[in-house]
Amino acid sequence: MDFVRFENVSLAYQPGSPFAIEDVSLSIRENEFISLVGPSGCGKSTVMKLVTGLKPPSKGYVYVDGREVGGPQKCVGMAFQASNLLPWRTTLQNVMLPMEIVEPYRSTLRARRAEYEEQARALLKRVGLAGFENKFPWELSGGMQQRASICRALIHKPRLLMLDEPFGALDAFTREELWCMVRDLWQEEPFTVVLVTHDLREAVFLADTVYVMSKRPGRILVKREIDLPRP
Ligand code: ADP
Ligand code: ADP
Repeated sequence: MDFVRFENVSLAYQPGSPFAIEDVSLSIRENEFISLVGPSGCGKSTVMKLVTGLKPPSKGYVYVDGREVGGPQKCVGMAFQASNLLPWRTTLQNVMLPMEIVEPYRSTLRARRAEYEEQARALLKRVGLAGFENKFPWELSGGMQQRASICRALIHKPRLLMLDEPFGALDAFTREELWCMVRDLWQEEPFTVVLVTHDLREAVFLADTVYVMSKRPGRILVKREIDLPRP
């Protein structure tokens, strides 16, 4: 079954302004890893906003998990080009942030804090950040900050991971390390991934399916299923 589905979706940010994306249709299977590629301004982030429910479509329909998206989605994890770690929180406290939002009551959060903390520590260890739990973001390298930010996106075991240029600011070596890390995490315990990038090599390396979008108004130009032997 399709986990994410766009049916002829168009979005204008203001009524009467030109469409940012126009007539976009796509379907993403559960646990599929897709990538959206295209030049700056073609509407990749707009697609993200529609999937996560931050914007309603002007035309067409957006479905996640069989339901029309009507607002912010709990089943989604997100990571961006900037790590957006809170500077006054340690690595561990940053990674645990989603639990504080997912758990509606302070009392239940308190009761389960130890369990969540254990999960967060295990995940940090898994991505090579053991020993950095109590460091603040400014004490970490750029690559380490992105590792932590991806942990924060995954800690509540989302069914859908949205990645918006998460490797864009990294040097080439660190970038490839993080590609492998994300791919390994996904292979160990699959979830649906939407990766936005303008790096075609990155898209082909990571994704099962690559959608290429045109410059304004954003439309899907090409859908290409990738069938490369992956290590
Ligand atoms: P990309 O992520 O591919 O760079 P965006 O989705 O950010 O593209 O932008 C697509 C188009 O929508 C661009 O023309 C951009 O100027 C416009 N746009 C993006 N965000 C807004 C906004 N908040 N208000 C008005 N126009 C916007
Ligand atoms: P990354 O590949 O994660 O960007 P770097 O190449 O900047 O990391 O750093 C290489 C290694 O140096 C890291 O894996 C880490 O072990 C160590 N390191 C980086 N920054 C720090 C720091 N602030 N404190 C301690 N060790 C660090």
